[in-house]
Amino acid sequence: MHVRFVRDLIIDRLDIPGAHLQSQYPDFNYRVYALDQPLQPGESRTMTFATTYRQQGFRNSGNVLDIVGNGTFVNDLILSPIIGMDQRQLLQDRTKRRKYGLPAELRMPRLGTPGADQVNYIRHDSDWITADLTVTTDADQIPVAPGYLTSETVQDGRRTIHCVTDSPILHFFSAQSARYTVSSVKYKGVDIGVYYDAPHAWNVPLIQKGMKAALDYYQANFSPYQFHQVRVLEFPAPQGAFAQSFANTIAWSEGIFFIADNRDPDRIDMVTYVGAHELAHQWWAHQVIGADEQGSTVLSETLAQYSAGMVMKHMYGPDMMRKFLKFELDSYLKGRGGDVLAEQPLEKVENQQYIHYRKGSLVMYRLQDQIGEDAVNRALRHLLHDYAFKGPPYPTSLALVNDLRQEAPADKQQLITDLFEKITLYDIKATKAVSKKRADGRYDLTLTLDAKKLYADGQGKETEAPMNETVDVGAFDVEPAQKGFSSKSVIALQRTAIHSGTQVVTMVVNRAPKIAGVDPYNTMIVRNYEANVTKVTAG
Ligand SMILES: [Zn+2]
Repeated sequence: MHVRFVRDLIIDRLDIPGAHLQSQYPDFNYRVYALDQPLQPGESRTMTFATTYRQQGFRNSGNVLDIVGNGTFVNDLILSPIIGMDQRQLLQDRTKRRKYGLPAELRMPRLGTPGADQVNYIRHDSDWITADLTVTTDADQIPVAPGYLTSETVQDGRRTIHCVTDSPILHFFSAQSARYTVSSVKYKGVDIGVYYDAPHAWNVPLIQKGMKAALDYYQANFSPYQFHQVRVLEFPAPQGAFAQSFANTIAWSEGIFFIADNRDPDRIDMVTYVGAHELAHQWWAHQVIGADEQGSTVLSETLAQYSAGMVMKHMYGPDMMRKFLKFELDSYLKGRGGDVLAEQPLEKVENQQYIHYRKGSLVMYRLQDQIGEDAVNRALRHLLHDYAFKGPPYPTSLALVNDLRQEAPADKQQLITDLFEKITLYDIKATKAVSKKRADGRYDLTLTLDAKKLYADGQGKETEAPMNETVDVGAFDVEPAQKGFSSKSVIALQRTAIHSGTQVVTMVVNRAPKIAGVDPYNTMIVRNYEANVTKVTAG
């Protein structure tokens, strides 16, 4: 039995009854035990351990920042043992790996590798668990851990809580402690609590508003929320600029929009977006968790992006979504230019953030725009029905793609191939637009387009593929990429069949158009989207 702890952890005690130490690697906190009697299938045994996590003195870098005077945030992977070995524990640094004669890249198992679906990507030594946790901290701080509070006591300057879960959770949980101010509201049977540092109160009402909207959307379209509480817990910025979802507990850095100035209505509401993304993980990770192979994070990060995107779409409408999608598109295009590995199609993503987040948003948004939000949500309900809270075999991205195919009509199957199975890019140029006033006072618009669909391989080599799909073609008062564009600037928009090569689209519009072109809402992965549109000349 291989038992590993984080390298810097002090192991005070480790008892595995009926086992003896066979070898150990103290530099790596790695021990190998032999069991005197083999462990039988279905048999359980108990191991006990005690560890200390601390740092003496200060280092130039890599200091312990998760345990601090006010705002501690740790997860169990730091404090407790991992049984067995997986490649994430191997040397990761590409340069160092080369120095030791190792292959520079550690790649994930390929999508569909036999046996890879026996473990989930969070950890290999556990499936779904129940937790019974006791956390002790300073008496003037509030400790929080996943599960429902069953007791709280204060003695000798220490506050102790006991929490128990009543539905299955991943073996991945947090403990936090700080001098929190708590704002709690009850919404349709769910306690929504925000635990924050008192001076950082600005966005607390917005966080709660976003949580309510997200709960409503996810419960109406996916499945019931498995808990009756959700806590958002602020942690100090030096620990990192991220938010992370644990069972009914969302750790959220002050550094990512917790303290942002969110008053400008023209800016993307990142507070709602982050909260909706993290809450979505209560379904996409904490109900359905992917197998540890290529594509695993499509089932968590991409679906959380989609879910948050739908909350934003319903809250703010198409103008905010256009800004959001443009941001995602720019980030994706930039990200793919800097990948040191090979770019993968979405269904084979190897934890590349520009793919599972940025491209994931674009893919899912376009899909719901093309086959309908209800169809996408039916597929997601099917995925939950088949896999929620179930152990091995864990689902892969192929299960999602298959469910989407079931819900998509025959003429959108190629779109699903292009979005998930290929790296698909478009070049669409609006080359000429002419308008002519008609006798009835309206205008005839004649738009010439040059369209191209390309498939890229992992190294960026492109091959042209026949394009045959429906695209929004429209006439506008303001160029969509310019500040000042909104849905009010859209004179006409019609979904039009577009094929590869040069073609002419005609439409009749109600007022004199200044700009004409395609895809003003950035739903497609078009590289040179500013060439999508052109100025209209009077004919
Ligand atoms: Zn996420």
